[in-house]
Amino acid sequence: MAQAGPLTRPTLAPYACRADASRGRRHPEPPAPTRDDFQRDRDRIVHCSAFRRLVYKTQVFVNHEGDLYRTRMTHSLEVAQLGRSIARSLGLNEDLVETVALAHDLGHTPFGHAGQDALDQCMQPHGGFEHNLQSLRVVDVLEQRYPEWRGLNLCFETREGILKRCPLPQAQAFEQSEPGGVGHRFVAGYQAGLEAQLTNLADEIAYNAHDVDDGVRSGLITLQQLREVPLVERFVAEALAAHPGLAQGPARRLLAETIRRMLSAQVYDVIDTTRAALQRSQPHTADEARQLRGLVGFGDEMRSASAELKRFLFAHLYRHPQVMETTAQARRIVADLFAAYMAKPAEMPDEFAQTDDTPRAVADYIAGMTDRFASREHQRLTGLRLFA
Ligand code: MG
Repeated sequence: MAQAGPLTRPTLAPYACRADASRGRRHPEPPAPTRDDFQRDRDRIVHCSAFRRLVYKTQVFVNHEGDLYRTRMTHSLEVAQLGRSIARSLGLNEDLVETVALAHDLGHTPFGHAGQDALDQCMQPHGGFEHNLQSLRVVDVLEQRYPEWRGLNLCFETREGILKRCPLPQAQAFEQSEPGGVGHRFVAGYQAGLEAQLTNLADEIAYNAHDVDDGVRSGLITLQQLREVPLVERFVAEALAAHPGLAQGPARRLLAETIRRMLSAQVYDVIDTTRAALQRSQPHTADEARQLRGLVGFGDEMRSASAELKRFLFAHLYRHPQVMETTAQARRIVADLFAAYMAKPAEMPDEFAQTDDTPRAVADYIAGMTDRFASREHQRLTGLRLFA
């Protein structure tokens, strides 16, 4: 019988991030008896309140528009699934990839990018708002679950993965408070660990695929229209050749088979391309891999095919008049809420109302809202009912 203890992963490649070689937590903690530090980080994320709220946050479609569409929660689970399966093939640390995937969108505002843009605009005089920075702020500061410190006290490698992007002035500020920490790579010019890079790419693969799915299901775009995108056409044609009966319907099956094939091809492409790059450069450690550019990625052909799909989605789905209309209402809700709380901070719960930095507290409070809570608060404070 195996003894209970942290699961060892003998298949980890030398360039993988290892939990037992982690740079650690900001507040040192004794090891857990049955889980390693990355597994423990994942569990902390799953149990935090920002994670639960992802269920009711918009990905592309505002949450009330239908139960079929992805939310930030289902998106994050799909990123974790894709990321894990690529990580396993490459000898990277699956647990770390899963952890970063589940946390990567914690800082998103309600109403997707419309909400983020509106909040950023409101925050311009006060240092701006950016969802990657906010995701880190959620796990470092805003979650309050431990007696001795704020935040979840996650490992460096998890926090590094969450902080996907960081403007230089902010990176320099991180360096002041945490020298050599998560801001350092943006100042010194190196990459995050391979697991973090992989999670980024899994994010992109996931949303391209599920936005095709949600877009077609919503009726805003059609599969026929999508066939002008070579990447989609290739897999529609393959699916029809393998299963000629699919041409007669139901349409949902052809769509699902097309997306399944497209996802697999992208996953295999990343695995093959990244494996070849790793074999060429042979990094001996995770830190050596951080110093090398271009290890994790698509091959040239898939990269441009995927970019073309993204351009199509941007033009025909994200800019669709119906999406733009909800976008305009979402921006209004966020801007009105910001103005209302700035004028009367006491309308917020005490922990947000009683701070020395009201604008940041207002941004934190709004960013943490679900779509439906933001709509209800907006109605309470303005008497207007949007998204009715
Ligand atoms: Mg994402």
